[in-house]
Amino acid sequence: CGIVGYVGPQQAAPVLVEGLTRLEYRGYDSAGVAVLNPRSSANPSRVVRAQGRVRDLEAALPARLAGTTGIGHTRWATHGEPSERNAHPHTSADGRVHVVHNGIIDNFATLRSRLADDGVELTSDTDTEVVAHLVARELATGLSLEDAVRAAVAQIVGTYALAVLDTQTPERIVVARNGSPLLLGVGDGEMFVASDPAAIVRHTSQVVLLDDGDFATVTADGFHSFTDGEERTARAAVTIDLTV
Ligand code: GLU
Repeated sequence: CGIVGYVGPQQAAPVLVEGLTRLEYRGYDSAGVAVLNPRSSANPSRVVRAQGRVRDLEAALPARLAGTTGIGHTRWATHGEPSERNAHPHTSADGRVHVVHNGIIDNFATLRSRLADDGVELTSDTDTEVVAHLVARELATGLSLEDAVRAAVAQIVGTYALAVLDTQTPERIVVARNGSPLLLGVGDGEMFVASDPAAIVRHTSQVVLLDDGDFATVTADGFHSFTDGEERTARAAVTIDLTV
């Protein structure tokens, strides 16, 4: 239902939680965040999820959740009951990839059984989880995160706004959009990802509206957008005026 992402010099968790709170008006049944902490090789990422309200997620967060790149989600369950295990972010079996998703993966049942046949242990009942495993599998062949997301998305039929983290490239978020809203927020030395401008208006009024078929790599100092071909796209930031 709602997506927020952050990469920059600030601690990500408070930015994500605040953004998710601003998306509460859209309705949801659970919430979660994943934060990358490249300085901790033992725990390069942390995921915290909770059924219920954003304040339940906040209560579940450890006092210190260090990391300056992260993604957050409020879920409106379509496949799999509302529960902590079905809440996003979803994580690949190897722990390397974290994904949040809005929309519906129509061919999830085929993808799930194919992954299960290959020995992947599925840990949720969602349509979304397959995306984390597919991206991880592509990364394992040596692809960049951008190419891995592109290759994973090529296997998906459905609607999606996706934000993907790779613990091995912790200073970036890769996003993809088809049929679900997704935009980037341009800050001063920091960047945001959101499904709805309400999540980030407190931080910036400069936004990049992504189109269906767009992908983007987002880092603290900017972004570049691309398509499933090789070409880059020239999406530009526009100023939005949202009174909060
Ligand atoms: N289909 C996904 C799920 O049920 C995402 C739902 C959403 O957009 O919040 O987990």
